[in-house]
Amino acid sequence: MQISWAARTDRGLSRSQNEDKYCARPDLGLFVVADGMGGHAGGEIAAGLAVDQIRQAIETTAGLSRDDSWPMPFDIRSGIDGNRLRVGLTMANARIAQEIKGFEKLRGMGTTVVAILVTGCKVALANIGDSRAYLQRGASLRRLTKDHSWVEEQIRAGTLTEAAARHHPWRNIVTRALSGCDELLIDVTELEFEAGDRLLLCSDGLTAVLEDSEIQRVVAAPTDLQGVCDELVGRANAAGGPDNITTVVVAVAAN
Ligand code: CA
Repeated sequence: MQISWAARTDRGLSRSQNEDKYCARPDLGLFVVADGMGGHAGGEIAAGLAVDQIRQAIETTAGLSRDDSWPMPFDIRSGIDGNRLRVGLTMANARIAQEIKGFEKLRGMGTTVVAILVTGCKVALANIGDSRAYLQRGASLRRLTKDHSWVEEQIRAGTLTEAAARHHPWRNIVTRALSGCDELLIDVTELEFEAGDRLLLCSDGLTAVLEDSEIQRVVAAPTDLQGVCDELVGRANAAGGPDNITTVVVAVAAN
């Protein structure tokens, strides 16, 4: 399988800076989107630290098997690559905790993360917060991640509709993030890529303004991957661009 990818990040039309970060390392099979939060440049710092730390963890665990000295307890619910992502996010959280300890004004900073690790046709996926992964297969777009956000919890509990959530004043509140917290709850899943699939990673600056049906139409169009990213960002800005927008699209082709 050969990986192709494209990415685009944009400040949007309302924010003074871009606190989203992404990483694309096809040589490692690693793609990450992180959406930082917190004042005093904290959001940008947290997202940057997370992306760097996850990349380092994936580099240092490349080629390790479960029998080697695994850097943290191995979670049997997922395979090697799922555990490698778990190590990456856990180390990133620890790094953020360390930074907050050293600089009091960074207290409260944190970041969401959605990350995939592609090995052959296998994809491990990890997320925390409200950045999302979608899989476009054939005519359908499937959301692969659950948002860890206040509004998503209300939707699942049946007390808020999707439409109402879109305009709710608490729509930006995430219930889980890499924030140097003691107890880290990361969602990890694994799936298989099929030829023709497109996998989208994005920050909530996209999904807060575009419905899934609109995202589906753009990702499924016979446009090249960069064209897809540019179109998604363009549409989010056309809808007001209230937040930073990041899109990473990954596809595989049989060799
Ligand atoms: Ca955001």
